Amino acid sequence: MAKRIRRAAVLGSGVMGSGIAAHLANVGIPTLLLDIVPRELTKEEEAKGWTLEHKQVRNRLANQALERLLKQKPAPLMSKDNITLIETGNFEDDFHRLAEVDWIIEAVVEKLEVKKEVFARVDEVRTPGTIVSSNTSGISIAAMAEGRSDDFKKHFLGTHFFNPPRYLKLLEIIPTEHTDPEVVAYMKTFGEDVLGKGVVMAKDTPNFIANRIGTYGLLVTVREMVQGGYSVGEVDSVTGPLIGRPKSATFRTLDVVGLDTFVHVANNVYENVEGEEKEAFRVPEFMKTMLENGWLGSKSGQGFFVKQGKDILELNYVTMQYEPRKKLVTPAVEMAKQAKGTAAKLQTLVYADGDRAGTLLWNIIAPTLLYTARLVGEIADDIVAIDKAMKWGFGWEQGPFELWDAIGLEKSVRKMQAEGRDIPSWVTDMLADGVASFYKTENGQLFYYAPGGYKVVEENEKVIHIRRLKEARGVIKKNAGASLIDLGDDVALLEFHSPNNAIGADIVQMINEALEEVNRNYKGLVIGNQGKNFCVGANLAMMLMEAQDENFFELELAVRQFQQALLKMKYNPKPVVVAPFAMTLGGGAEVSLAASRIQAAAETYIGLVEVGVGLIPGGGGNKELYIKRLNSLPRGVDIDYVKIAASVFETIAMAKVSTSAAEARELGFLNHRDGITMNGDHLLYEAKQAVLSMYEEGYRPPVRKKVPVAGESGYAAMLLGAQSMFHSGYISEHDLKIAKKLAYVLAGGKVPYGTEVDEQYLLDLEREAFLSLIGEPKTQARMQHMLVKGKPLRN
Ligand code: NAD
Repeated sequence: MAKRIRRAAVLGSGVMGSGIAAHLANVGIPTLLLDIVPRELTKEEEAKGWTLEHKQVRNRLANQALERLLKQKPAPLMSKDNITLIETGNFEDDFHRLAEVDWIIEAVVEKLEVKKEVFARVDEVRTPGTIVSSNTSGISIAAMAEGRSDDFKKHFLGTHFFNPPRYLKLLEIIPTEHTDPEVVAYMKTFGEDVLGKGVVMAKDTPNFIANRIGTYGLLVTVREMVQGGYSVGEVDSVTGPLIGRPKSATFRTLDVVGLDTFVHVANNVYENVEGEEKEAFRVPEFMKTMLENGWLGSKSGQGFFVKQGKDILELNYVTMQYEPRKKLVTPAVEMAKQAKGTAAKLQTLVYADGDRAGTLLWNIIAPTLLYTARLVGEIADDIVAIDKAMKWGFGWEQGPFELWDAIGLEKSVRKMQAEGRDIPSWVTDMLADGVASFYKTENGQLFYYAPGGYKVVEENEKVIHIRRLKEARGVIKKNAGASLIDLGDDVALLEFHSPNNAIGADIVQMINEALEEVNRNYKGLVIGNQGKNFCVGANLAMMLMEAQDENFFELELAVRQFQQALLKMKYNPKPVVVAPFAMTLGGGAEVSLAASRIQAAAETYIGLVEVGVGLIPGGGGNKELYIKRLNSLPRGVDIDYVKIAASVFETIAMAKVSTSAAEARELGFLNHRDGITMNGDHLLYEAKQAVLSMYEEGYRPPVRKKVPVAGESGYAAMLLGAQSMFHSGYISEHDLKIAKKLAYVLAGGKVPYGTEVDEQYLLDLEREAFLSLIGEPKTQARMQHMLVKGKPLRN
């Protein structure tokens, strides 16, 4: 029986090893990080008089990896404190300690011989039942296990993380014929539930799924670029968001990955396949020259692009000189930009015969789809695994088969046939049987096509899709900004769906209606959605319009209604769980703070950022963050209200935004009762479970109490800092004005220290301050700037 994973070890502390160790620490798993013992001293070590026997020298590689983890951006650690869970060591002094752990992950150099040697040593020290895995990008898993003991082989598999492990969702799991199915099932669940990854089962073939197709797609793109005489910048301008791919498109992505890594991965397929496919993986000459020149991308300062002063130049692959970046602007591109949704954009582009962009995209997409279709069965069991791998590993909005459906399967195949392209027989058979799409939904259930007919797409029971739920059950209530949906088990869900999920009058109205409906007919409410971000704040454009028209009466009413809705939510008799994820700013943070409990995705970037637009929070956020910090202190200790108010002041005045849910806890947005969900796809499920457990425990809303405030002495203390920042030129006069208003609100106005005030009084102070600021021309200029430029204005 395989062990349950409580402790882990990572072998190799390079890019991937250190990133994996950091992610294990993020989920609370103590991890041993080992690397080889250096054979030479550095100058600094010599200067210190150390020898090769010194512990610091022997652990140097892993120790340096730890230092890098603290500096790297984006941060591999969700909280800097997590670093204490990683213990460093080396392959000689600490190898025996692998007997203590439940999972050993190998992330050493990509060489079969080196990996085999490492595993032979692991086999000697591991205890039976310990899971062992390799993070190889593409070496055969079975070959690595050759010669190992039976117990090793039973517990051995590939676990292929993508770089960076914290942020890229994909985890490919590659069993061998000897891997115990129980181990495979356990690792899949562990990967999804504990590590929060999107797990895809892959077969033991060169480069597994995502890198096989991704590399092919990239090399086809290069081939078509060269044949059609397109420039690097032109290709990137149409292979990014326009077709549902990341902003870094093709070559910018390559620059980030590193050309050396890419060529290594491409060569691995080249060396392991035959015939026509082999040729497709041959790296073109100009890329080999780039490699020889050391033009590897970001890590070497230049690649397909180089930054020169403020400008970004692109490589001309004929002259090997850098020149100004070009964009492909054609009628089809213009039309696609106007089209709504990626499917419509793609349809506009790929059938635009004769259009330079259309032709390029068709010539990239058609062969990639056909290649992928030929690999079904060989690299993965079904199309679902392939689609998920490309979405999670490469950030594509749609996987190849979803994309194929989007451009129209029949129409595209007719075009492919007319061009004499070779269509895999299973696809033509499928069409002959009258099946015209790879996927279909029926009553909220998703099906995929496999030879023989449609099959249900099986998913982790914790995955809830709002769209499918609505298809199957409809909505209880809705308006333009939000919908109330039945989540099952007597729990309702309030989904925001306004543009950017910004909060306006319609959402406020739905919060009120949802509470009424829930109190009548449900056990509790979840507030959540599956947009790009939970909520970016209040509807700024609307507020600015009202302010410019001097409709202060309307504004006052809107703010008051938002405050009242959140107050009502806070004291609602049935539990309300808010499920934030990604950007949760301003009003979005205020909605979260009013919840009975927050269930946040691990990747939650929450903050009260109103000062950036010249305002302070107006929906009770000041008060709630203050109260939440008060309540987080142990009972019976002497509380210094000035200190608490000042720390909340700092958070809001500096518009601090957490870089993770763990950091949100450090900032006081979350407390010990709030939950964190590692896997964003499980968020609504876990929020619903939180509602149910609170209901079962006999939920009682908080008792409405008076709030002790810091008063005049608090105001003076908070102001002191702001004034000194103003005098030393760190903040502007307008910043100081905002800071004064914020300090006044957080201090509870002109009252003696420790005065107990009513929540409504605090809300009134906040609303007054908010309204006075929104009338200020400088605040309006900040709002305008944010709306137009998407960045704060310093004025
Ligand atoms: P890296 O070069 O950053 O790290 C390699 C590690 O191996 C270093 O810690 C090094 O000290 C150690 N090492 C070197 N020689 C060794 C030896 N003889 N014996 C034992 N250890 C030795 O490489 P990386 O990018 O972290 O890659 C590690 C593994 O992860 C490789 O198998 C790679 O294919 C795979 N991988 C890499 C990426 C990526 O994007 N970099 C993504 C997925 C998987």
